Amino acid sequence: MLTCRISPGAVAVFTDRTGGVSRPPWDSLNLALHVGDTTADVAENRSRLERAVGARIVWMDQVHGTDVRVLRGETESAGECDAVVLEALDGLAPAVLVADCVPLLLADTTGGVRAAVHVGRAGLFAGLPERVAAEMRTVTDAPLHAVAGPHICGRCYEVSAALAEQAGPLGARSTTRWGTPAIDLLAGIRRQLDGIPLTHVGTCTHEDSRLYSYRRDGTTGRMAGVAVRDTPSRM
Ligand SMILES: [Zn+2]
Repeated sequence: MLTCRISPGAVAVFTDRTGGVSRPPWDSLNLALHVGDTTADVAENRSRLERAVGARIVWMDQVHGTDVRVLRGETESAGECDAVVLEALDGLAPAVLVADCVPLLLADTTGGVRAAVHVGRAGLFAGLPERVAAEMRTVTDAPLHAVAGPHICGRCYEVSAALAEQAGPLGARSTTRWGTPAIDLLAGIRRQLDGIPLTHVGTCTHEDSRLYSYRRDGTTGRMAGVAVRDTPSRM
């Protein structure tokens, strides 16, 4: 588990494969219900994570879409969306599930407004990071900060020449280390966040076997990025 500060009022937690009960090929801290793993094992893994972060986690049903959900009241789930913003819900923590896509977390300086965003190619092309930042600015005047967790890097994320071409205007065109067209999701996110400080932590999912990689392994688990309100009792 990797922890770092998003803003003075919020911390980011990124899980890896270790510390859970799931069996191969989901071993061991798989946090996703939709990948074929046992429901009971995922439930146990999720409750271990909630205990570790000291907050109840709000999960999304991610659909590679472009919806941004803003939550202001108690809720079990964010429903079908790929970005969720929590406002003044300190005991809750928004989470994103990934295995190669970018787990992007944002918070305002106070930590009272926090967001979790699932940024794959679809989300990047649809301008999801930019739209989440705009949505957050409608509920807070405080400066925003962002952290991107472990994901497939721009030297591994091979795509067709046509897709790499489309990524060009977004500042996300790249080349694999073996010389073929690629997309650099992080570069594209940085461009869309337009001056919001963005910290990147962790290694490349495709290169690091301690992390889940859908591209490398096919049937596998999902890791989480969680944006937690940072209160003295919790740190
Ligand atoms: Zn890589």
